[in-house]
Amino acid sequence: ARILGIESSCDETSAAVIANGREPLSIVTATQIEMHAQFGGVFPEVASRQHIKTVYGVIEQALQQAHMSLSDVDAIAVTLGPGLAGSLVVGVNAAKGLAVASGLPLVGVNHLEGHIYSAWLRPPEMADLPPAPQFPLLALLVSGGHTELNLITNHLEYQRLGGTLDDAAGEAFDKVARLLGLPYPGGPSIQEAAKNGNPRTFQFPRSMLEGTWNFSFSGLKTAVLRAVQNFKNDPENLPVNDLAASFQTAVVDVLVSKTLAAAKAYGAKEILLAGGVSANAALREGFRKHSPIKVNIPDLSYCTDNAAMIAAAGYFRFVAGHVSDLDVDVLPNLSLS
Ligand code: ATP
Ligand code: FE
Ligand code: MG
Repeated sequence: ARILGIESSCDETSAAVIANGREPLSIVTATQIEMHAQFGGVFPEVASRQHIKTVYGVIEQALQQAHMSLSDVDAIAVTLGPGLAGSLVVGVNAAKGLAVASGLPLVGVNHLEGHIYSAWLRPPEMADLPPAPQFPLLALLVSGGHTELNLITNHLEYQRLGGTLDDAAGEAFDKVARLLGLPYPGGPSIQEAAKNGNPRTFQFPRSMLEGTWNFSFSGLKTAVLRAVQNFKNDPENLPVNDLAASFQTAVVDVLVSKTLAAAKAYGAKEILLAGGVSANAALREGFRKHSPIKVNIPDLSYCTDNAAMIAAAGYFRFVAGHVSDLDVDVLPNLSLS
């Protein structure tokens, strides 16, 4: 089956056509990153208005690049949540309109489930489909708004083991970048700065919260703040690269060790890493180096928000018989399980 996916939960307007949940036929993403960089984060009203301007053009381009019209697809999948209400509603209304006009089924998708299913997508440069992730999977979802461990026992079946008690990992990257004077979005900026830094210069805390599958990143963020404040009379000599590298290593240590421990405790067959922070090179490397079992990591191009992952998740929902009513509403606080 071919699914047209639409994603507008935050600051990317994206549409994609995916065959059988895994094969990309087209992906078109209009990002608003430059527009929001001046605010140092996503400005919700600006995001919503920009989605309105671009959504139909993006959908049209995705169909064109797949050499298709709506009559060639089997269903329309759209992100219902979680995300910004004003952003979500633009994608959902566009999807509803197209579903009414074409008579195609509408499949509402959880954005987080989309991140999970990005690991099923064939990488752009790969000719053959790689093996699909095998259940039971231990999934680490690390994004701008979420950091959680889930045991995935089968398609669409999630058991949440724990999650962050304060900041999400991506949020910590964004906040620490701001402390260091690095541009938004913080994740890629910190990764870049860390390349030229020493990860052992600063011994930042690793909050393990032993005995739980939860995370906490606020102590780490405060420790970076204190280190920065020690240079307040000498800001030119702030060791930005060493701070970035030491912070990044602390985050990676915690994420890798807790995920591997959970995979062992629950007898997972494989690990799955997903969400915007899964683009981080040190995190990808940390898992590849230390995991005794296979780690499924989405291609870099699928890590941050995109509609290919929404169409992929939409496919697995569609074939399981989950079709939404045309009066379905956005769910800004939707969770995975
Ligand atoms: P959610 O998916 O939880 O609703 P979101 O959609 O805003 O939140 P994503 O788009 O999945 O989040 O991910 C964006 C986050 O990923 C940002 O916090 C960004 O800093 C982070 N990020 C992106 N690339 C990297 C990288 N290379 N290293 C670390 N973090 C990164
Ligand atoms: Fe996301
Ligand atoms: Mg984003």
